[in-house]
Amino acid sequence: MLDQALRILKDVFGYDAFRGNQAAIIERVAAGGDALVLMPTGGGKSLCFQVPALLREGLTVVVSPLIALMDDQVATLDELGVAAVALNSTLDAEAQREIAERIRRGEIKMLYLAPERLVQPRMLAFLQRLQIGLFAIDEAHCVSQWGHDFRPEYLQLGQLAELFPNVPRIALTATADMRTREEIVQRLHLENAERFLSSFDRPNIFYRILPKDQPRKQLLAFLAARRGDAGIVYCLSRKKVEEVAAFLSEQGYPALPYHAGLANDLRAYHQKRFLNEEGLIMVATIAFGMGIDKPNVRFVAHLDLPKSLEAYYQETGRAGRDGLPADAWMAYGLQDVIFLKQMLSNSEGDERHKRVEQHKLDAMLALCEETRCRRQALLAYFDEDMPQPCGHCDNCVDGVQTWDATEPARQALSAIYRSGQRYGVGHLVDILLGRENDKIRAPGHQHLAVFGMGKALNEGEWRTLFRQLVARGLADVDLDGYGGLRLSDSCRPLLRGEVSLQLRRDLKPQQAAKASGSSASQLVRVDEREQWEALRALRRKLAEEHGVPPYVIFPDATLLEMLRSRPASLSDMAQVSGVGARKLERYGEAFLEVLNGAAETTPVVADLRHELVSLARAGMTPLQIASQLKCSEKNVYSLLAEAIGHQQLSLEQALDLPQDLLGEIQDAFLDGEGELPPVAAIAEQFAGRVEDGVLHCVRAALQAEFEV
Ligand code: ADP
Ligand code: ZN
Repeated sequence: MLDQALRILKDVFGYDAFRGNQAAIIERVAAGGDALVLMPTGGGKSLCFQVPALLREGLTVVVSPLIALMDDQVATLDELGVAAVALNSTLDAEAQREIAERIRRGEIKMLYLAPERLVQPRMLAFLQRLQIGLFAIDEAHCVSQWGHDFRPEYLQLGQLAELFPNVPRIALTATADMRTREEIVQRLHLENAERFLSSFDRPNIFYRILPKDQPRKQLLAFLAARRGDAGIVYCLSRKKVEEVAAFLSEQGYPALPYHAGLANDLRAYHQKRFLNEEGLIMVATIAFGMGIDKPNVRFVAHLDLPKSLEAYYQETGRAGRDGLPADAWMAYGLQDVIFLKQMLSNSEGDERHKRVEQHKLDAMLALCEETRCRRQALLAYFDEDMPQPCGHCDNCVDGVQTWDATEPARQALSAIYRSGQRYGVGHLVDILLGRENDKIRAPGHQHLAVFGMGKALNEGEWRTLFRQLVARGLADVDLDGYGGLRLSDSCRPLLRGEVSLQLRRDLKPQQAAKASGSSASQLVRVDEREQWEALRALRRKLAEEHGVPPYVIFPDATLLEMLRSRPASLSDMAQVSGVGARKLERYGEAFLEVLNGAAETTPVVADLRHELVSLARAGMTPLQIASQLKCSEKNVYSLLAEAIGHQQLSLEQALDLPQDLLGEIQDAFLDGEGELPPVAAIAEQFAGRVEDGVLHCVRAALQAEFEV
């Protein structure tokens, strides 16, 4: 059995070996047993049912919660030459009938279905007349009422056990916690399933958390080494999402906003662009998440604190699904803590629920102020023991300095207490530093015993200290909305001098700036860049021709291996991981040509054009685009005009022209009879007012309009 599985792995998927538990899972399921698979994102869950589907007689039915996920998998299988289809509401009746017919004739190996469709009586009756080889239930945690992805339709999947007693079932999820696990077993009747629990570590992700100072500047420093990489930037509010997306675009990083307040079609459009284009940054609220199967997300950055470690793990987990180096980066500050605590206390729900949420937030804060290895701490929270520090997080790499903060902490707590437990950090720092201003004098705080007692620390150090006191629960945030601090019960032992307090020392700003630039290594070296881009351009061209995202043609890991192992023949190419028989036949030659330099020039131009369109759509001006692409402004205008002519861009996307000026230019072009005059004919009229390039763009737009 395993021999056969390995052959399928190589021939169809192009891989040489199974990873982790894959082989054991496949053996179990292919032999007709049930399985519950808990594996982190990127662990390779898909193969766990796709290989058995090819090993077993009959049709494999895959239940998946989102159309986008289904389409992606079907497209991927299609490229591999595996007969797979998805039945969903986007198909018309005729297309559905046709698929049913092909299934009946036994031409289809894998059928993807949404749960609500599978449990329709007609569908179940249809399936009962067929030979079913396997049921795979993907994202099985959707059956859990406690999780945030709960889908009531999943509850009905329990009946499969009864209706198809002889068909094995495999349930898969990347959600690890015990409660969800038991709920899956119980609700899906998987009592006889063998459980396969993998480590939830994501070794390719580099974790970094730094104190928020000037968040935008910090983000830019982080992004500087990651130009051209796709990533997600998470923010809490819609407004901030919009602002950060605009800011990044201005700074030359193509970025799009995504949040629940956008119209549905615009949101879908942005999501599609994120999947189909390379190097785009999605600035998003947590509404952007599930259904993002893009494997080559190179970083996830948080500009606001997630409210739990579960959320942090899940959101950062969207980076590096393909196993290549990726970054999880976060800037966090006292304001985040205050904000989340207030949100929590104002939220609906009973006291017990609030207490649970409070504990979750505390765990998140503890990770932020962690002085040991971040990965060890994160995994420990999920009950996984990691014996050694990972060597691949900020704390491991930079080292953490701690200091004895007992005395200053007592001064800080005393300042809170003596000023009446209602002032914010700014005021408290003024007291400690002995700054006599109006706000201090009004309540007479210059007479407090602690006034001016804290000159041993500077303002920044005090702010850090207050943040840490709140994060550790030694001080509480007042919940009236003004962010005043008060003492908590747990600070008493410290005040009484019974315990001491060790705190983490923040990096100096210069150190932090340096550190944020250097973490996970970049994928390709400078000298490989050109060929890498040529390979990506070819991939993009093929993806466009086939109407699929680029990673469906080949994942980055496969392109990277081509780049490094330099296959010279088709048989060399067949050795590259990720090149199966079908893809070798379809694409082998074309990629060999690029590798051997034969096809060098065209992809580079195509590449430039593609990037230019993305940048323009992201709202960059021609001048900014020129500096980003390192080419002349004139060149940019001529490429823009071309893109407008091909209707890849609208005039509004390409240029930001005042309405009346645009009208004047259009009139000039349309003045004569018949054909549009060449740009040269009207250029003089606009000399000194607009670039000739602008005229070219307007002309291209008019021409495109007439051709329709
Ligand atoms: P998950 O669904 O668990 O998040 P996927 O099934 O999408 O993960 O797999 C993640 C990536 O790893 C995919 O690009 C997949 O092709 C690749 N992969 C999975 N198993 C193997 C393997 N045995 N060898 C090489 N690559 C693999
Ligand atoms: Zn570590």
